[in-house]
Amino acid sequence: GDTECRVLSIQSHVVSGYVGNKSAAFPLQVLGFEVDTINSVQFSNHTGYQEWKGHILNAEVLGDLYSGLKANDLCHYTHLLTGYIGCASFLNKVKEMVIDLKKLNPGLIYVCDPVMGDDGKLKQIIPYADIVTPNQFEAELLTGIKITNLETAKQAMNKLHEMGAKIVVISSTSLGSDDLLVCVGSSVNNGSRTSLQIDMPKLPAHFTGTGDLFTALLLAWLHYHSDNIKLACEKTVSTMQCVLKRTLAKAKEKAGLMKPTPAQIELQLIQSKRDIEAPEISCYAHLL
Ligand code: ADP
Ligand code: PLP
Ligand code: ZN
Repeated sequence: GDTECRVLSIQSHVVSGYVGNKSAAFPLQVLGFEVDTINSVQFSNHTGYQEWKGHILNAEVLGDLYSGLKANDLCHYTHLLTGYIGCASFLNKVKEMVIDLKKLNPGLIYVCDPVMGDDGKLKQIIPYADIVTPNQFEAELLTGIKITNLETAKQAMNKLHEMGAKIVVISSTSLGSDDLLVCVGSSVNNGSRTSLQIDMPKLPAHFTGTGDLFTALLLAWLHYHSDNIKLACEKTVSTMQCVLKRTLAKAKEKAGLMKPTPAQIELQLIQSKRDIEAPEISCYAHLL
Protein backbone atom coordinates (compact mmCIF):
# COMPACT_ATOMS: atom_id res chain seq x y z
CA GLY A 1 0.00 0.00 0.00
CA ASP A 2 1.09 3.62 -0.16
CA THR A 3 0.63 4.33 3.52
CA GLU A 4 3.44 2.92 5.58
CA CYS A 5 2.51 -0.06 7.67
CA ARG A 6 4.48 -0.72 10.78
CA VAL A 7 3.90 -3.76 12.95
CA LEU A 8 5.06 -4.18 16.52
CA SER A 9 5.36 -7.93 16.95
CA ILE A 10 5.81 -9.34 20.44
CA GLN A 11 6.61 -13.02 20.11
CA SER A 12 9.21 -15.70 20.78
CA HIS A 13 12.61 -15.66 19.14
CA VAL A 14 14.51 -18.82 18.38
CA VAL A 15 18.12 -18.74 17.26
CA SER A 16 17.62 -21.76 15.04
CA GLY A 17 14.39 -22.51 13.23
CA TYR A 18 11.02 -20.87 12.84
CA VAL A 19 8.41 -20.10 15.48
CA GLY A 20 7.10 -16.81 16.86
CA ASN A 21 8.85 -13.75 15.46
CA LYS A 22 11.11 -15.94 13.31
CA SER A 23 7.98 -17.29 11.66
CA ALA A 24 6.14 -13.96 11.40
CA ALA A 25 8.71 -11.28 10.57
CA PHE A 26 9.94 -12.55 7.19
CA PRO A 27 6.51 -12.96 5.57
CA LEU A 28 5.38 -9.58 6.87
CA GLN A 29 8.50 -7.93 5.50
CA VAL A 30 8.12 -9.69 2.16
CA LEU A 31 4.56 -8.39 2.05
CA GLY A 32 5.73 -4.82 2.54
CA PHE A 33 5.46 -4.22 6.26
CA GLU A 34 8.00 -2.60 8.50
CA VAL A 35 8.37 -5.04 11.39
CA ASP A 36 9.65 -4.10 14.83
CA THR A 37 10.19 -7.19 16.94
CA ILE A 38 10.19 -7.58 20.68
CA ASN A 39 11.38 -11.06 21.61
CA SER A 40 9.27 -12.36 24.48
CA VAL A 41 11.72 -15.22 24.86
CA GLN A 42 15.06 -15.99 23.28
CA PHE A 43 15.55 -19.73 23.03
CA SER A 44 18.10 -21.77 21.12
CA ASN A 45 15.26 -23.60 19.32
CA HIS A 46 11.58 -24.34 19.84
CA THR A 47 10.38 -26.42 22.74
CA GLY A 48 9.43 -29.42 20.63
CA TYR A 49 13.11 -30.43 20.55
CA GLN A 50 14.51 -32.67 23.28
CA GLU A 51 16.50 -29.77 24.66
CA TRP A 52 16.32 -26.04 24.57
CA LYS A 53 18.16 -23.24 26.35
CA GLY A 54 17.54 -19.59 26.75
CA HIS A 55 15.75 -16.84 28.56
CA ILE A 56 12.32 -15.35 29.04
CA LEU A 57 11.80 -11.60 28.83
CA ASN A 58 10.12 -10.33 31.97
CA ALA A 59 7.43 -7.67 32.16
CA GLU A 60 9.86 -5.10 33.56
CA VAL A 61 12.21 -5.40 30.59
CA LEU A 62 9.23 -5.29 28.23
CA GLY A 63 8.25 -2.01 29.92
CA ASP A 64 11.83 -0.72 29.58
CA LEU A 65 11.89 -1.44 25.87
CA TYR A 66 8.56 0.26 25.42
CA SER A 67 9.65 3.35 27.37
CA GLY A 68 12.77 3.55 25.19
CA LEU A 69 10.61 3.54 22.08
CA LYS A 70 8.34 6.17 23.59
CA ALA A 71 11.23 8.39 24.58
CA ASN A 72 12.21 8.56 20.91
CA ASP A 73 8.65 8.88 19.62
CA LEU A 74 8.93 5.50 17.91
CA CYS A 75 5.52 4.22 18.97
CA HIS A 76 3.49 5.03 15.90
CA TYR A 77 2.34 1.63 14.75
CA THR A 78 -0.47 0.55 12.45
CA HIS A 79 -0.53 -2.97 13.89
CA LEU A 80 0.30 -4.76 17.12
CA LEU A 81 0.77 -8.52 16.91
CA THR A 82 1.11 -10.79 19.92
CA GLY A 83 1.51 -14.53 20.33
CA TYR A 84 2.26 -16.63 23.37
CA ILE A 85 2.20 -14.60 26.58
CA GLY A 86 3.87 -16.39 29.45
CA CYS A 87 2.68 -14.81 32.67
CA ALA A 88 0.15 -12.44 34.22
CA SER A 89 2.56 -9.53 34.68
CA PHE A 90 3.64 -9.73 31.04
CA LEU A 91 -0.02 -9.82 30.02
CA ASN A 92 -0.75 -6.72 32.08
CA LYS A 93 2.12 -4.85 30.47
CA VAL A 94 0.92 -5.84 27.00
CA LYS A 95 -2.54 -4.56 27.96
CA GLU A 96 -1.08 -1.20 29.02
CA MET A 97 0.83 -1.05 25.76
CA VAL A 98 -2.25 -1.73 23.61
CA ILE A 99 -4.15 1.02 25.38
CA ASP A 100 -1.27 3.44 24.94
CA LEU A 101 -0.63 2.50 21.30
CA LYS A 102 -4.31 3.01 20.49
CA LYS A 103 -4.12 6.48 22.07
CA LEU A 104 -1.28 7.32 19.70
CA ASN A 105 -3.10 5.75 16.74
CA PRO A 106 -6.82 5.15 17.27
CA GLY A 107 -6.84 3.18 14.02
CA LEU A 108 -4.24 0.70 15.27
CA ILE A 109 -5.22 -2.90 14.65
CA TYR A 110 -4.36 -5.34 17.40
CA VAL A 111 -4.00 -8.89 16.15
CA CYS A 112 -3.96 -11.38 19.01
CA ASP A 113 -3.09 -15.05 18.62
CA PRO A 114 -4.44 -16.21 21.98
CA VAL A 115 -1.94 -19.01 22.55
CA MET A 116 -2.89 -20.85 25.68
CA GLY A 117 -0.11 -21.24 28.15
CA ASP A 118 -2.02 -21.98 31.29
CA ASP A 119 -5.61 -20.95 31.97
CA GLY A 120 -8.15 -18.47 30.72
CA LYS A 121 -6.16 -15.39 31.77
CA LEU A 122 -5.99 -14.35 28.15
CA LYS A 123 -9.72 -13.64 28.25
CA GLN A 124 -8.80 -10.22 29.65
CA ILE A 125 -6.97 -9.22 26.49
CA ILE A 126 -9.68 -10.17 23.97
CA PRO A 127 -11.67 -6.93 24.51
CA TYR A 128 -8.65 -4.99 23.19
CA ALA A 129 -8.14 -7.22 20.18
CA ASP A 130 -9.45 -6.36 16.73
CA ILE A 131 -8.52 -9.70 15.19
CA VAL A 132 -8.15 -12.99 17.06
CA THR A 133 -6.82 -16.25 15.64
CA PRO A 134 -7.32 -19.08 18.12
CA ASN A 135 -7.00 -22.72 17.15
CA GLN A 136 -9.95 -24.93 18.07
CA PHE A 137 -8.66 -25.75 21.53
CA GLU A 138 -8.03 -22.09 22.35
CA ALA A 139 -11.43 -21.01 21.01
CA GLU A 140 -13.08 -23.63 23.23
CA LEU A 141 -11.09 -22.57 26.27
CA LEU A 142 -11.80 -18.87 25.77
CA THR A 143 -15.53 -19.30 25.19
CA GLY A 144 -16.39 -22.40 27.17
CA ILE A 145 -18.10 -23.72 24.03
CA LYS A 146 -17.12 -27.15 22.76
CA ILE A 147 -16.85 -27.06 18.98
CA THR A 148 -18.47 -30.19 17.59
CA ASN A 149 -20.16 -28.88 14.43
CA LEU A 150 -20.56 -25.68 12.39
CA GLU A 151 -23.31 -24.43 14.68
CA THR A 152 -21.13 -24.57 17.79
CA ALA A 153 -18.22 -23.12 15.81
CA LYS A 154 -20.41 -20.14 14.95
CA GLN A 155 -21.54 -19.85 18.57
CA ALA A 156 -17.92 -19.75 19.72
CA MET A 157 -17.07 -17.08 17.14
CA ASN A 158 -20.16 -15.10 18.22
CA LYS A 159 -19.01 -15.22 21.79
CA LEU A 160 -15.56 -13.94 20.79
CA HIS A 161 -17.31 -11.08 18.94
CA GLU A 162 -19.31 -10.35 22.09
CA MET A 163 -16.04 -10.28 24.00
CA GLY A 164 -14.88 -7.54 21.63
CA ALA A 165 -13.08 -9.02 18.61
CA LYS A 166 -14.27 -7.70 15.25
CA ILE A 167 -12.69 -10.51 13.27
CA VAL A 168 -12.34 -14.08 14.50
CA VAL A 169 -10.57 -16.76 12.51
CA ILE A 170 -10.24 -20.24 14.02
CA SER A 171 -7.18 -21.42 12.16
CA SER A 172 -8.10 -25.09 12.25
CA THR A 173 -10.86 -27.30 13.53
CA SER A 174 -11.46 -31.01 13.29
CA LEU A 175 -14.90 -30.51 11.74
CA GLY A 176 -13.85 -32.06 8.44
CA SER A 177 -13.17 -35.65 7.48
CA ASP A 178 -9.95 -37.35 8.54
CA ASP A 179 -7.91 -35.87 5.73
CA LEU A 180 -9.26 -32.31 5.95
CA LEU A 181 -8.72 -29.41 8.30
CA VAL A 182 -11.44 -26.80 8.49
CA CYS A 183 -10.73 -23.13 9.06
CA VAL A 184 -13.71 -20.97 10.01
CA GLY A 185 -13.86 -17.21 10.17
CA SER A 186 -16.28 -14.47 11.01
CA SER A 187 -16.35 -10.71 10.89
CA VAL A 188 -18.74 -8.09 12.18
CA ASN A 189 -18.70 -4.77 10.39
CA ASN A 190 -21.20 -2.21 11.70
CA GLY A 191 -23.86 -4.78 12.24
CA SER A 192 -23.29 -6.88 9.14
CA ARG A 193 -21.93 -10.34 9.72
CA THR A 194 -19.89 -12.49 7.36
CA SER A 195 -18.89 -16.03 8.21
CA LEU A 196 -17.03 -18.52 6.13
CA GLN A 197 -15.43 -21.91 6.00
CA ILE A 198 -12.33 -23.16 4.18
CA ASP A 199 -11.49 -26.82 3.92
CA MET A 200 -7.85 -27.70 3.36
CA PRO A 201 -5.99 -30.95 2.87
CA LYS A 202 -4.48 -32.18 6.13
CA LEU A 203 -0.84 -33.07 5.58
CA PRO A 204 0.39 -36.18 7.43
CA ALA A 205 2.92 -34.54 9.75
CA HIS A 206 3.20 -32.32 12.79
CA PHE A 207 4.54 -28.86 12.09
CA THR A 208 5.62 -26.14 14.50
CA GLY A 209 5.38 -22.39 14.04
CA THR A 210 2.35 -22.76 11.78
CA GLY A 211 -0.01 -20.79 14.00
CA ASP A 212 2.45 -17.91 14.14
CA LEU A 213 2.88 -17.92 10.37
CA PHE A 214 -0.87 -18.16 9.82
CA THR A 215 -1.58 -15.12 12.00
CA ALA A 216 1.13 -13.01 10.35
CA LEU A 217 -0.17 -13.84 6.86
CA LEU A 218 -3.73 -13.11 7.90
CA LEU A 219 -2.70 -9.72 9.34
CA ALA A 220 -1.09 -8.84 6.02
CA TRP A 221 -3.89 -10.07 3.76
CA LEU A 222 -6.60 -8.46 5.88
CA HIS A 223 -4.70 -5.21 5.44
CA TYR A 224 -4.64 -5.51 1.65
CA HIS A 225 -8.21 -6.86 1.46
CA SER A 226 -9.82 -5.14 4.42
CA ASP A 227 -13.28 -5.43 2.89
CA ASN A 228 -12.85 -9.04 1.83
CA ILE A 229 -12.23 -11.47 4.67
CA LYS A 230 -12.97 -14.33 2.26
CA LEU A 231 -10.08 -13.48 -0.05
CA ALA A 232 -7.77 -12.71 2.88
CA CYS A 233 -8.45 -16.15 4.38
CA GLU A 234 -8.05 -17.87 1.01
CA LYS A 235 -4.64 -16.29 0.43
CA THR A 236 -3.57 -17.12 3.98
CA VAL A 237 -4.62 -20.76 3.86
CA SER A 238 -3.30 -21.26 0.32
CA THR A 239 0.09 -19.89 1.37
CA MET A 240 0.12 -22.22 4.37
CA GLN A 241 -0.47 -25.18 2.04
CA CYS A 242 2.47 -24.19 -0.17
CA VAL A 243 4.84 -23.67 2.73
CA LEU A 244 3.83 -26.88 4.47
CA LYS A 245 3.94 -29.01 1.32
CA ARG A 246 7.45 -27.76 0.65
CA THR A 247 8.37 -28.33 4.30
CA LEU A 248 7.04 -31.89 4.24
CA ALA A 249 8.79 -32.72 0.95
CA LYS A 250 12.08 -31.45 2.37
CA ALA A 251 11.58 -33.32 5.65
CA LYS A 252 10.96 -36.58 3.78
CA GLU A 253 14.00 -36.02 1.61
CA LYS A 254 16.13 -35.62 4.74
CA ALA A 255 14.52 -38.30 6.92
CA GLY A 256 14.09 -41.05 4.34
CA LEU A 257 11.91 -43.73 5.86
CA MET A 258 12.33 -42.39 9.40
CA LYS A 259 10.00 -39.94 11.08
CA PRO A 260 11.45 -36.46 10.52
CA THR A 261 13.19 -34.90 13.51
CA PRO A 262 12.11 -31.43 14.67
CA ALA A 263 15.14 -29.96 12.89
CA GLN A 264 14.30 -31.74 9.64
CA ILE A 265 10.76 -30.42 9.62
CA GLU A 266 11.47 -26.75 10.37
CA LEU A 267 9.39 -24.54 8.08
CA GLN A 268 10.81 -23.95 4.60
CA LEU A 269 9.98 -20.27 4.91
CA ILE A 270 12.74 -18.51 2.99
CA GLN A 271 12.40 -21.05 0.20
CA SER A 272 8.71 -20.07 -0.04
CA LYS A 273 9.30 -16.37 -0.64
CA ARG A 274 7.58 -16.35 -4.03
CA ASP A 275 4.51 -18.19 -2.76
CA ILE A 276 4.29 -15.73 0.13
CA GLU A 277 4.52 -12.71 -2.17
CA ALA A 278 1.99 -13.88 -4.71
CA PRO A 279 -0.06 -16.82 -3.46
CA GLU A 280 -2.04 -18.80 -5.97
CA ILE A 281 -5.35 -19.69 -4.45
CA SER A 282 -5.74 -23.42 -4.01
CA CYS A 283 -8.23 -23.46 -1.13
CA TYR A 284 -11.53 -21.64 -1.62
CA ALA A 285 -13.80 -20.34 1.10
CA HIS A 286 -17.53 -20.60 1.10
CA LEU A 287 -19.81 -18.32 3.01
CA LEU A 288 -21.89 -19.79 5.80
P1 ADP B 1 -1.53 -23.69 15.95
O1 ADP B 1 -0.17 -24.02 15.40
O2 ADP B 1 -1.61 -22.34 16.51
O3 ADP B 1 -2.14 -24.75 16.81
P2 ADP B 1 -3.09 -24.64 13.71
O4 ADP B 1 -2.79 -26.01 14.11
O5 ADP B 1 -4.51 -24.26 13.49
O6 ADP B 1 -2.48 -23.55 14.68
O7 ADP B 1 -2.28 -24.35 12.37
C1 ADP B 1 -2.33 -23.12 11.72
C2 ADP B 1 -2.46 -23.34 10.23
O8 ADP B 1 -1.40 -24.16 9.79
C3 ADP B 1 -3.73 -24.05 9.80
O9 ADP B 1 -4.74 -23.12 9.49
C4 ADP B 1 -3.27 -24.77 8.55
O10 ADP B 1 -3.35 -23.87 7.46
C5 ADP B 1 -1.82 -25.05 8.80
N1 ADP B 1 -1.56 -26.43 9.26
C6 ADP B 1 -1.07 -26.82 10.46
N2 ADP B 1 -0.91 -28.15 10.51
C7 ADP B 1 -1.30 -28.62 9.31
C8 ADP B 1 -1.38 -29.93 8.70
N3 ADP B 1 -1.01 -31.04 9.36
N4 ADP B 1 -1.82 -30.02 7.44
C9 ADP B 1 -2.19 -28.94 6.75
N5 ADP B 1 -2.16 -27.70 7.26
C10 ADP B 1 -1.71 -27.52 8.51
N1 PLP C 1 7.18 -20.22 20.60
C1 PLP C 1 7.99 -21.17 21.09
C2 PLP C 1 9.19 -20.80 21.89
C3 PLP C 1 7.70 -22.51 20.84
O1 PLP C 1 8.51 -23.45 21.34
C4 PLP C 1 6.55 -22.84 20.07
C5 PLP C 1 6.22 -24.24 19.81
O2 PLP C 1 6.92 -25.16 20.20
C6 PLP C 1 5.75 -21.82 19.58
C7 PLP C 1 6.10 -20.51 19.87
C8 PLP C 1 4.46 -22.02 18.83
O3 PLP C 1 4.37 -22.66 17.67
P1 PLP C 1 2.96 -22.91 16.91
O4 PLP C 1 2.78 -21.76 15.97
O5 PLP C 1 3.16 -24.21 16.24
O6 PLP C 1 1.82 -22.94 17.91
ZN1 ZN D 1 -1.28 -21.22 17.90
